[in-house]
Amino acid sequence: MGVMAGVTTIWLDGKWCDKESAVVSVFDHGLLYGDGVFEGIRVYGGHVFRLAAHIDRLYDSAQAIGLRVPMPKKEMASVTEELVRRSGLDDSYLRHVVTRGVGDLGLDPRKCGRPTVIIIADAIRLWPTEVYERGLRVVTAGTPIPQRESLSPRVKSLNYLPHILAKMEGIEAGADEVLMLDAAGHVAEGSGQNLFIVKNGIVRTPPPSAGILKGVTRDVVIELAHAAGRDVREELLNRYDVYTADEAFFTGTASEIVGIRQVDGRVIGGGGPGPVTRDLATRFRALTREAHD
Ligand code: PMP
Repeated sequence: MGVMAGVTTIWLDGKWCDKESAVVSVFDHGLLYGDGVFEGIRVYGGHVFRLAAHIDRLYDSAQAIGLRVPMPKKEMASVTEELVRRSGLDDSYLRHVVTRGVGDLGLDPRKCGRPTVIIIADAIRLWPTEVYERGLRVVTAGTPIPQRESLSPRVKSLNYLPHILAKMEGIEAGADEVLMLDAAGHVAEGSGQNLFIVKNGIVRTPPPSAGILKGVTRDVVIELAHAAGRDVREELLNRYDVYTADEAFFTGTASEIVGIRQVDGRVIGGGGPGPVTRDLATRFRALTREAHD
């Protein structure tokens, strides 16, 4: 297919579908209760970026909620590669979803016969290029991240309401993105991104114990920063640390690396994406375009 435009392609429980034919039951507990897990993965130049890390996280998320993915990891990987080939999309965004499956109107997961497995290949673009160039305007959301005592944030589950409510606050405020805190006021993450700050040359990001999703992009950026000889520290951060940082940026599969211009009206450092952010973004681009796994 090469440079052809490609088309949204979906694998649904073993069947190849297009956007119209990929339909699930209204009795699926993924829909009725958000009972399921998911992943978002990028394809660069026809190569799936960090497929193994995403599949590992998907299966760990499923395991943590007592859901058995009805196919081995190897098959999930090969179906994913096949989906990318069939889509003809060189640069795309993949969405893997595993739900508890079709049950009745009660909560009881034992009524769900078989988990539903969906893999979608489509396009994604969170912000136009100008926004990446000028940096994001961010506001702190009043909605905190979910209580880690009820559901570990390590689980990438279909329960995204707190993050969606936070995102809505950002939209209402005219911001590009939001900063979410935990109930104690520590900095956690964006609505779908991990946060990094740079102060006096030191790169700092909240640890997984802060209640964040442990992002695959976050791990890649930590590796890249180490490779560049930078000091990286995973430690609890407060909004003070963000306001007074020299640079701040978000990382995520959909967002990639995006500089932050201001937070709650405080301009961060020089305003646009700073030198460390730019350097890491360049290294990230090189890595993704080299089609590493
Ligand atoms: N935090 C949240 C809440 C997210 O939804 C995401 C996106 N998956 C991230 C962080 C970033 O994770 P990743 O780099 O694996 O996309």
